[in-house]
Amino acid sequence: MKYANQHCPQPQNCNEISLAGEDKQTIIEALKRIGVEDSQLMMRASQIWKWIYVRGARSINEMTDVSKVLRAQLEKQFTLDRPEIISEQASKDGTQKWLLRLKQLETDRYAPEIECVYIPETDRGTLCISSQVGCTLNCSFCHTGTQRFVRNLTTQEIVAQILVARDRIGDWPNIKLDAVGHLFPKTRRKITNLVFMGMGEPLYNFENVKRSVLIASDNEGISLSKRRITLSTSGVVPEIIRWGNEASTMLAISLHATHDDLRNKLVPINRRWPINELIDTCRAYPRLSNARKITFEYVMLNNINDSLAEARNLVKLLAGIPAKVNILPFNPWPGSNYQCSQLNRIKRFIEVINRAGYSCPIRMPRGRDILAACGQLKSDSERTQKNSSYNRNL
Ligand code: SAH
Ligand code: SF4
Repeated sequence: MKYANQHCPQPQNCNEISLAGEDKQTIIEALKRIGVEDSQLMMRASQIWKWIYVRGARSINEMTDVSKVLRAQLEKQFTLDRPEIISEQASKDGTQKWLLRLKQLETDRYAPEIECVYIPETDRGTLCISSQVGCTLNCSFCHTGTQRFVRNLTTQEIVAQILVARDRIGDWPNIKLDAVGHLFPKTRRKITNLVFMGMGEPLYNFENVKRSVLIASDNEGISLSKRRITLSTSGVVPEIIRWGNEASTMLAISLHATHDDLRNKLVPINRRWPINELIDTCRAYPRLSNARKITFEYVMLNNINDSLAEARNLVKLLAGIPAKVNILPFNPWPGSNYQCSQLNRIKRFIEVINRAGYSCPIRMPRGRDILAACGQLKSDSERTQKNSSYNRNL
């Protein structure tokens, strides 16, 4: 399938700015720039907002309740372009992964690439999105950690991942108007949950990730409840409470070990903020309750962190925290040095956690065949630059 190139050929010189993925303030600024009167700003911004986030408009011309004159003015400077889709892969299990090429910013040496993944399940559809190009941390079992850190994503680039995924899976449901003129989806939505578990450490891109959460949860737009949005962090302790106060999404902690010696090796940020500081901070996470538990992620690395003694330590660490444990079978990637624990070892580990009263589901690897599972994401821009037809299996 062929896509129209969604970027200007020379983006550095291009004065067309995409509003798709931007927040309301940016849209208001855009309207001011083209001379819209103050008295009209809120109403116009709200119209445009709904076209972008409720109806999924991909061009300004589609906005039929905006006057032709205003549309023409907007079109001179703005677009609703999305990042370019470089590849789209579908796993046997229904998981879909996109490699996206972002618009090159002035500070970029080349147009960076990121990945995002859609995971359909019977009762939900989860979109896993990236917050950075690469990652500054290098957890030893994570593929993204082997990639050079390039930069933080902008708010727009984070939100654009949701728009692209909704475009591609057909998730712009028919809409209806309620009595007071609000737009509502008529049909069931496919993306019901959002997780910041793609490339990057989201708390190292705090402001942009926060703004993207505010856009995704705006109830006149994408309208995802914050309880269906989860931020996963490797443990950036000083930002966790602030995140809870300012963004108040669900929280997942990449714990993966119960002793500092081992966690220092697996999740090196632990040298800066060790386990006891991390756990104490989790206890203070705002609005923590049995209805809003923290998820502790624990990757199963054969004979490294999967003993019964470690399971018991984990239970001790979590004492008193409304928590659940998410077991992540290790997903291998080319060149990785670990093996996934045997299933019976995983089961015995889980039994210990369950007996202590914690729910402990296994996050079954999804999309392993297309390297879309947890920790397998890596956009290798150099590779794609060398071979421009890489993975063009659209
Ligand atoms: N940077 C954030 C979020 C992205 S990773 C974080 O580290 O929390 C999402 C989850 O996948 C994290 O718990 C991460 O530790 C885990 N993960 C990374 N590599 C993995 C792999 N190869 N197999 C299984 N899980 C992995
Ligand atoms: Fe970065 Fe998370 Fe991977 Fe660690 S697990 S390298 S923090 S993306």
